[in-house]
Amino acid sequence: MGGEWVSPHSGKTTGSLFPATEEAHAQVASGDETDVNRAVDAAAAAFADPAWRRMPPSKRARILWKMAELVDQNRANIALCETYDTGKTIFDSSKIEIPMVAEIFRHYAGWVTKIEGGVVPLPGDSLGLRLREPVGVCGMITPWNFPLLLASWKIAPALACGNTIVLKPSEQTSLSALWLAKLGAEAGLPAGVFNVVTGSGSKVGMALVRHPKVDKISFTGSTEVGKLIQKEAAASVKRVTLELGGKSPNVVFADADLKAAVRGAATGIFYNKGEVCAAGSRVLVQREVYDDFVQGLVAMAGKTTVGHPLAEGVRMGPVCNAAQYESVLEWFEKGKANGARLVAGGKSLRDEVGGGKGWYVAPTIFADVDPAAPIAQEEIFGPVLAVTPFDTMEDALRIANGTRYGLAAGVWTRDVGRALTMARELRAGTVWVNTYNLYDPSLSFGGFKESGFGRDLGADAIASYTESKSVWVNLG
Ligand code: NAP
Ligand code: MG
Repeated sequence: MGGEWVSPHSGKTTGSLFPATEEAHAQVASGDETDVNRAVDAAAAAFADPAWRRMPPSKRARILWKMAELVDQNRANIALCETYDTGKTIFDSSKIEIPMVAEIFRHYAGWVTKIEGGVVPLPGDSLGLRLREPVGVCGMITPWNFPLLLASWKIAPALACGNTIVLKPSEQTSLSALWLAKLGAEAGLPAGVFNVVTGSGSKVGMALVRHPKVDKISFTGSTEVGKLIQKEAAASVKRVTLELGGKSPNVVFADADLKAAVRGAATGIFYNKGEVCAAGSRVLVQREVYDDFVQGLVAMAGKTTVGHPLAEGVRMGPVCNAAQYESVLEWFEKGKANGARLVAGGKSLRDEVGGGKGWYVAPTIFADVDPAAPIAQEEIFGPVLAVTPFDTMEDALRIANGTRYGLAAGVWTRDVGRALTMARELRAGTVWVNTYNLYDPSLSFGGFKESGFGRDLGADAIASYTESKSVWVNLG
């Protein structure tokens, strides 16, 4: 923080656990309110300093571009941190996520020189100006499933707009955020512009949410914590962006390319062990093709190799932490109790795959799931799929929209009219048509309903990290 590495006020550290061995591979500082106060003071001072806020945009753009280059250059090390912290495969961290982090910084480097206001017609001898200004000190609280990627969705646009930042990563996955702090300094960010405080949500996270000098909180995580943050942030009328949970449906019509749909639906739930906010955790299938489709999904689950995240050819590592592991095992039982038919998985693979260690679970599918059952309504955040048949498009829409969430949805059909009708009627922040789980920095991402509000990525992120200021000039 403030351009220096600082020991935590508590003097304590917490072990970061490798999900494949359940053992600590690193110690991370346990921050508290005192550390947050110091970091926020540094961020507030850096925001007040014209060196950053009034930096020529082309210079700020070069710093963001340089951050992208440094992320690329350090890809192998950062990816290794992500894999050790989360249990995700090294293929996913090094070939997909960290390169995407660099792309996000490149994308927003391009925005810096193009954040414009406007001239507004006013009556008489008056000129109206609309200016876009940075919001100020942004507190960011991020989860463990895509540690640096989801943080970069917030950091890159916030820096592009000239804000300063205090980031609190998930306590279990802090290493990559610390890497980025180091690279930011190397790229030329002035001291205090980007600060990281590691530690727990209840201490560090809450202290950020309550701090009067923090202007905005951007949060990605569970709906439960999101609600708490919104309530606490109201005390100082902070701007709040919430990216929360989901129970996203893939809707498959009988006329779809069923081979592609089976693949899309299976990777939609098994990618990153189902620890994806937009995981396609429900699949709704038109009855004519239902039995064949379920068989296809079962075959895909069988092909999803579970193994050590650093081993070649592995598609799914262990789930991220002990709590998730226990919770997924409980869902196996709850699914059966809900009357659903277990057609794949439904068991721990700790012994089989990990030799008695590691939070390994089998890719799991429940068929004939009642859309009202908890297993079809609640977020599991693991590799557990609920499959339900439907008859008409109206049925599909009613079931798809019938949860408290609205983060994403997939539609599989060759009928253009039906695809677009579904896209229009689905109450979700993202609708994928004949594909699933694709992201681009240009396309904004966020939720309807209890999946949150505000948007990351795209032009929407620029709007969310700027305030609009109106200037009335009397020309007379
Ligand atoms: P979480 O418990 O909500 O934690 C998210 C972040 O909030 C962590 O950094 C956590 O800190 C912090 N936190 C926890 N309690 C807090 C409090 N009282 N005040 C302030 N901060 C607090 O969620 P998670 O367990 O990390 O992640 C899983 C959930 O996130 C799932 O429900 C998933 O759907 C959701 N998610 C949503 C998106 C999206 O884009 N919509 C993306 C990813 C994940 P510590 O954990 O370090 O204590
Ligand atoms: Mg949690």
